[in-house]
Amino acid sequence: MTLPIRPELAGLEPYGAPQLDVTARLNVNENPYAPPDAVVDAIAAAVRKAAEGLNRYPDRDFLLLRGDLAAYLAAESHVDFLEPRNIWAANGSNEVMLHLHQAFGGPGRKVLSFAPTYSMYPEYARDTLTDFVTLPRRADFTLDIDAATAAIRDVAPVMVIVASPNNPTGTALPLVHVEALLAAAADVPGGCLVVIDEAYAEFRRRGVPSAASLIPAHPHLAVSRTMSKAFALAGGRLGYLAAHEEVIDALRVVRLPYHLSAVTQATARAALAHHRDLQAQVDEIRAERDDTVAWLRDQGYTVADTDANFALFGPFEDRERVFQGLLARGVLIRVTGPEGWLRVSIGTPQEMALFRSALLEVTA
Ligand code: PMP
Repeated sequence: MTLPIRPELAGLEPYGAPQLDVTARLNVNENPYAPPDAVVDAIAAAVRKAAEGLNRYPDRDFLLLRGDLAAYLAAESHVDFLEPRNIWAANGSNEVMLHLHQAFGGPGRKVLSFAPTYSMYPEYARDTLTDFVTLPRRADFTLDIDAATAAIRDVAPVMVIVASPNNPTGTALPLVHVEALLAAAADVPGGCLVVIDEAYAEFRRRGVPSAASLIPAHPHLAVSRTMSKAFALAGGRLGYLAAHEEVIDALRVVRLPYHLSAVTQATARAALAHHRDLQAQVDEIRAERDDTVAWLRDQGYTVADTDANFALFGPFEDRERVFQGLLARGVLIRVTGPEGWLRVSIGTPQEMALFRSALLEVTA
C-alpha cells in the first residue's frame, strides 16, 4: 500500500533520546530528584479533585494556572508586571514552540537560530512548512552578536529563536545581547518576534537576569519556560511563555480547544504551590555542575561554560565508543553537539561519581 506521506517526512525517525532503565540516566537534562512525598500527596489530592469533574471539558483558557505561572515568574525572576493575559502554556515548551511556529511561521517565512542549538527547532519549522536558517555560533559557543544582528537584517526572519542557557552547550545570552537582537528585529519589515527559550533558566548563575525583565518595553519579545527541568516535573508536561497580550492572542488562535487537560492543570497548579520544595536541590545541582566542569577540565577536556544542568565536553576521536562504554557501565549520556563532543546531564552526587569512574575506565 502506498501512503501519501509528505515526501520530506518519508523515512524519517521520530525525535527522541533512548529511554533505558540504567543506573544513571544523564541524557535528557531532567532533575534527578523525585518530588518529595508531601508534594506527591498535594498533586494526588489536586488530581483527585479534578477527577470529580472529568465529565466536563477543562477550563479552555486556564486563567488560574496562568495567574499562578505569573506569580511564579514574579517570585523567581522578579518580574512583577505579568498578568494572566501575558502568559501562555501548553503540553511542554515543545508545544508552546509549535504554537509559535503555527501562528508566526508558514510557507515563505523564515526562522533564524544559532547553531549548535536544540535539535527540535528545525522540526517545529519543518512541521509548519517554515524555512529554518542558522548562523554558526563562535568556537566557544557564544553568539557573534554583530553577525547575528546583521543576519537578522539580511534574512528578515519572522522569528529569531535563542535558547538561553543554550542546549546542548549551556551558554547563556547576556541581556545586552538580547537587547541588540530586539533592536535589529524591530527594523525587520513586517515584524520579527525574538523568542528566548529559557527552559534551563533556574540553573543560571546568580546575577544573570531573565530576559523576561525586558518584556514591558518590547512587544516583540517572548520568553519561554518549562516545568520539565529545575521544577522536577518533566512527566507533568507543562511549558509556558510570557509576552505582551498581542503575542498570546495569536497563540490562542492556533491552539487546539482544551489542549491542557484538567489533570495537567491540576498537577501544574499543585506543583507551583510547592515550587520551593520541588526546586530544593537546584543549588545542589548547580554546585555539582560546577564540580563536574572543573573535574572534566582537570582531566584535560574542553568543557563549554554552562549555566544549565548539563555540560558539553570533548573532544573525542570516537565519541560513539565512549558513549557505548559508559552505557555498558550503567551511565546513559547523550551524543549531541558538534562532532567529537558529548553532553552529560547533572545527576545526584552518586550518579556523577559513577559517571566519573566510568569515564576514567572507558578512556584509560
Ligand atoms: N527547549 C530546550 C532548549 C530544551 O532543551 C527542551 C527539552 N529538552 C525544551 C525546550 C522542551 O522541553 P519541554 O517540552 O519538556 O518543556
